[in-house]
Amino acid sequence: MLVDLHTHTNASDGELAPQVLLALQAAAGVELLAITDHDTLAGWDQAQPVGEGAPRLLPGIEFSVEATRQEVHVLGLGFDPDHPGLRQSVQDQQERRRQRAERIADRLEYLGVPGALAGAEEEAGGAGIGRPHFARFLVASGRVRNFDEAFRRYLGRGKPAACRMEWPPLGDAIEWIHAAGGRAVLAHPHSYKLTRSALRGLVGEFRAAGGDALEVAMPGLAPGQIGELARLTREAGLRASAGSDFHSPDGWNLPSRIPPLPPGLEALWDEWV
Ligand code: AMP
Ligand code: MN
Ligand code: MN
Ligand code: MN
Repeated sequence: MLVDLHTHTNASDGELAPQVLLALQAAAGVELLAITDHDTLAGWDQAQPVGEGAPRLLPGIEFSVEATRQEVHVLGLGFDPDHPGLRQSVQDQQERRRQRAERIADRLEYLGVPGALAGAEEEAGGAGIGRPHFARFLVASGRVRNFDEAFRRYLGRGKPAACRMEWPPLGDAIEWIHAAGGRAVLAHPHSYKLTRSALRGLVGEFRAAGGDALEVAMPGLAPGQIGELARLTREAGLRASAGSDFHSPDGWNLPSRIPPLPPGLEALWDEWV
C-alpha cells in the first residue's frame, strides 16, 4: 500500500494548492495521504475529497519544536482537526512564526535588504510565513541568484538572518497531538546533522516524552541510512512512518520514490487502514 504521511501545500512552504496536491497524489497511486504543513491546518481546512481513486486524507501537521538545544520537527497525524486545544496551539505557533518573521526582516534590513517583511508576506500569499518565503523574496528582488543561495548566505542555520527561534519543547507538541487523539512522529531524524550517539539520545528523548513513531521510509535516503533508522526504531520499540516531505513537483521527493519499510518494523498507518 502506497502511503505518503508527510507533504506540504501552499498553506505553508509547499508550491501546490491542496486540491492540486491531492490530484497529483491520486495519479501517483497514493491511497493514504496526510498534508503536514508547518504549524498550520489551513491546507486541511481547504482540502476537499477529489472522488474516485483519491487518497484517503488523514489530518496532519508538522510542528517546529525544541529538543535538547536544537530545533526538530514533529509530525502530528490522525488527530481530531477540530480539537480546541490543538487549534489554540496552532495559533500560538503562528504567532511565534510572525514574531520571528519580524526579527528576520529587521536583521535583513540591517544587512542592507529593506522591505523583506512585506516581500515575504507577498510571497506567502496568506500562508503561514517561513524562511522559504524570505528566500523567494531574496530571489525575486535579485539579492541572490537562487533559493539555495538565499539559505547559504542569509537564512540557513548559523547564517546572519537565520534568527534562532525559541520553539516550545518537544514534549509539549507530543501532548497537543495526543490530547487531540493523534500520533506523534519524529520527522526526518537523519536530517539533524547529529552523530550516531546524539541521534540515539534524541530518539530516547522523543520516546521518553511519549512519541509514537520515527519517520523511516523517505525518498533520497541511502540504504544504509534507512537501515540505521530502522535499527533505532526497533531498539526504541517505536513504530515507523513513511513520507515524501513533498514541497514541489520540481523536487526529487516525489511520493512514487518512497521506499518500502524495512522488514521487522510496525507501520504506524496500520491503525488507519
Ligand atoms: P522554517 O520552518 O520557516 O524555519 O523554514 C524551514 C523550511 O525551509 C524547511 O521546511 C525547508 O522546506 C526549507 N529549508 C530549510 N533549510 C533549507 C536549505 N538549506 N535550503 C533550502 N531549503 C531549506
Ligand atoms: Mn518546508
Ligand atoms: Mn521538516
Ligand atoms: Mn516537512
